[in-house]
Amino acid sequence: MKPAVGIRDLTHVYVSGKGAFVALERVGFTLEAGEFVSLVGPSGCGKTTILSIIAGLIEPTEGNVEIGGRPVVGPSHKVGYMLQHDYLFPWRTILANSLIGLELHGKVTGEQRKEAVRLLAEMGLEDVAGKYPGQLSGGMRQRVALVRTLVTSPDILLLDEPFSALDYQTKLVLEQLVSETLKARRKSAVLVTHDITEAIAMSDKVIVMDRGPGRVRRELAVPEPIREASPMKAREMPGFHALFNEIWGELEEMEARRGGHDD
Ligand code: ADP
Ligand code: MG
Repeated sequence: MKPAVGIRDLTHVYVSGKGAFVALERVGFTLEAGEFVSLVGPSGCGKTTILSIIAGLIEPTEGNVEIGGRPVVGPSHKVGYMLQHDYLFPWRTILANSLIGLELHGKVTGEQRKEAVRLLAEMGLEDVAGKYPGQLSGGMRQRVALVRTLVTSPDILLLDEPFSALDYQTKLVLEQLVSETLKARRKSAVLVTHDITEAIAMSDKVIVMDRGPGRVRRELAVPEPIREASPMKAREMPGFHALFNEIWGELEEMEARRGGHDD
């Protein structure tokens, strides 16, 4: 079977007035259907660039991305993108915000509207569907952003630090909710995070990236029992800390090698 997402030999060069900058060099990895992968690595190693290429928002200088065996040539409804900032429109109600992604693809059907209402209920937001974003907490707003992403039925979700602006408790609750929701629907996902525990707790594999230029340094499989456990339980499982230390060690080694010079 073809992987859900195949990323091959991505090299990306940003060209600006200041010259050319190699952001990615021969980055590759695959995602099976329903697989959850996290990207961790220093700031500037190209994580967001990879997500933007998968989403079809930027064309890589070299290499290609295939989704379900078909090359990505531009944005598609198969890919849902969720960011750190929720980008909800303050003048639209929560339900109306949930429907924005669908509206971009055409007229919203009655069935799609029902699905949005169902998803809002599933996220514990049924009572706020008629409210406005300014009346909601950060965690609730991110749940609305998740509904807005899921309601378009993407095969793959791209999550760019979606929990990093939230307090710890809210973040754990949302990790749990996202994990359950994606598992139940067998969606594939790529999560970018600075939080190593989050990466391990949510993923089937963790990709550690290096920069200068951005590349894959290591790919680590998360052991089966940790994978099966919910993000909250995963943190208490044997093997979790060993994996944490291994990833931590990789990141420390990169910092040490850089030895103070700030590139
Ligand atoms: P990360 O998400 O890992 O922090 P990014 O993918 O945002 O990294 O950026 C990778 C590198 O490419 C950074 O050094 C960044 O400054 C540079 N970069 C990102 N976008 C642009 C752009 N539009 N033009 C020029 N350089 C860019
Ligand atoms: Mg980024």
